[in-house]
Amino acid sequence: MPSEFDLIARYFSPTTTHTDLAGGDDAALIRPSAGSQLVVSSDMLVAGTHFLANSAPESLGWKTLAVNLSDMAAMGGVPRWATLALALPLADEPWIQAFSRGFLNCATRYGVDLVGGDTTRGPLALCVTIFGEVPMGEAITRAGARAGDDLWVTGQPGLAALGLGSLTGKLTLLEPAAKRCEEALLQPVPRVEAGLKLRGLATAMIDVSDGLLGDLGHLLVRSKVGAVVETASLPLAAALATGIAPEQARSALLSGGDDYELLFSAAPDKREAVSYVSDALSLPFTRIGHLTERTGVLHLLEADGTMTDPAQLGYDHFR
Ligand code: ADP
Ligand code: MG
Repeated sequence: MPSEFDLIARYFSPTTTHTDLAGGDDAALIRPSAGSQLVVSSDMLVAGTHFLANSAPESLGWKTLAVNLSDMAAMGGVPRWATLALALPLADEPWIQAFSRGFLNCATRYGVDLVGGDTTRGPLALCVTIFGEVPMGEAITRAGARAGDDLWVTGQPGLAALGLGSLTGKLTLLEPAAKRCEEALLQPVPRVEAGLKLRGLATAMIDVSDGLLGDLGHLLVRSKVGAVVETASLPLAAALATGIAPEQARSALLSGGDDYELLFSAAPDKREAVSYVSDALSLPFTRIGHLTERTGVLHLLEADGTMTDPAQLGYDHFR
């Protein structure tokens, strides 16, 4: 049976590509670049609440870091360092090895040094704190949106919720769309490059982790604006390709969680520049509506011209 220290040495040894000191002491030493602000965020994943207890460990390792990278992306921050605190029910070495592989793959892909953490016995829980950098004053907060701005979303929100339905047997989806949805849930791609390229273009940004409308609500409150979302503009094609009913596709897109796309506002005169970023990244960005002066008020504009209030449609986060 490996000891706690064996496990740490084998699977969570520090990486120091841009770190002054990590491992072998009581704390790590990191050196932010001159003129930058540190961007700091934590996210905890608990078995049964945030992931299925039988999730494959390699993709879970990836996702544990990816959800934190998504918060970094939403600030326009460059991810640099992370710590990892683990509670594990038992020292299941093959499980830990696969988890570590997924986690470190993600760390390498996005240039993150693992600089420390904590390992303890307990009900499976995975907590990362991520540290990144942004040039002083250039972070993209939730608070900068203005009435008249366009509202944009990256990628294909809703796929993760469909993937969950598929994995739990609540939905029967067609291949290959089903596989794509399950992958969106199990191994989300954080939009780090998009977040960085949107500095200077986006006026406000948030990552979509709890559902598009719910997270839009947070941005509206912080920016003191309202929004009209045009349902005819929503990027529904990938969800419809699963073979589900249009109503279900729409509901997954508007209120499904766990997507990690970016939702942002930008002035209309930046449309071309925003599209240029989308092309450069080969990642579709969709303009789904615009912002209004009616603080916190969100409406859906249907194709036939009628306006509905999503609160009346029974989306959970509005209850
Ligand atoms: P301490 O007793 O000072 O808290 P620990 O025994 O908990 O130290 O950890 C020893 C070293 O291993 C520390 O440098 C810590 O940051 C690191 N560490 C422990 N668990 C992890 C982990 N899951 N991932 C990365 N580093 C870890
Ligand atoms: Mg400790």
